[in-house]
Amino acid sequence: AKASGRNSVHFFESSMQVAVEARFDLEGELRHAVDREQLRLFLQPQVDAAGHIVGAEALLRWQHPSKGLISPAVFIPLAEETGLIVPVGQWVLNQACQILAGIAGRGQSLRISVNVSPRQFRQADFVASVREVLARTGVAPACLVLEITEGLVIEDLQHTIDKMHELKACGVRLSLDDFGTGYSSLTYLKRMPIDELKIDRSFVRDAPVNDNDAALVEVMLSVSRHFHLEVVAEGVETLDQLNFLKAHGCRCFQGYLLGRPMPAETFLSLMDDGSDQ
Ligand code: C2E
Ligand code: CA
Ligand code: CA
Ligand code: CA
Repeated sequence: AKASGRNSVHFFESSMQVAVEARFDLEGELRHAVDREQLRLFLQPQVDAAGHIVGAEALLRWQHPSKGLISPAVFIPLAEETGLIVPVGQWVLNQACQILAGIAGRGQSLRISVNVSPRQFRQADFVASVREVLARTGVAPACLVLEITEGLVIEDLQHTIDKMHELKACGVRLSLDDFGTGYSSLTYLKRMPIDELKIDRSFVRDAPVNDNDAALVEVMLSVSRHFHLEVVAEGVETLDQLNFLKAHGCRCFQGYLLGRPMPAETFLSLMDDGSDQ
């Protein structure tokens, strides 16, 4: 465990030093994090080729009273194992829709992408809960993007595809996250009702300098054109990466170069500052 000063931001390290006992502590505390209002939703901008913000990915943070800001890389796997991901994921969905409703109320429009964990997706009432939050907040379903990881898809392909169709029937958009990192075959793409692919940052990183990564990114972009899928390249940190992606037809970018994940309020004021009309 790592203490942090009031104003400093420390990411709790996911390392061997996270002892078993620390894990039990966290598990117990995570149970209360929702009730105690310790979860924060950060937003990271998604930007088009002209530099306009077209969307944002919602990224969860845990504002722990003594440990500071804890990264989802630490507590999401724990939440997934213990089943706490279900209430946590529901909180995220609700929060994202509240933000979308606020944005619509100001006459603006934007998409927010929400990460859906495999366990959350497999809940029997997941589709119903999506429908419920959309109805309650009055958000235009097309503004909500659900990011589903590639890993989920192969575990139970037909069931996953059926559920994807139910979600599409609600009007939400579906995005395949971490594309290319798993073992799924490209042929699954034609069976899945998805709208978007996210190119994982492990490919983006060296694409400008490594022939193999460059070829993989080109294949992903070309496949997505063929299937009429939108593409978001993630982990864009340098101008070289951005220019490479643009040169190969990518139209939407996410990464530290374009903007870091930030508190929702900060993101919203950025939108106001950058608004064209
Ligand atoms: P992800 O879905 O692949 O999210 C992208 C991660 O890359 C985020 O890490 C983001 O902060 C980071 N990132 C963005 N741009 C850059 C960049 O230019 N360079 C580098 N090095 N990193 C960049 P984060 O926020 O720590 O989240 C980690 C993972 O935790 C996410 O990976 C996602 O799998 C999971 N996660 C986050 N929020 C949620 C949530 O609400 N629900 C669920 N189920 N999972 C979540
Ligand atoms: Ca994601
Ligand atoms: Ca991702
Ligand atoms: Ca990733």
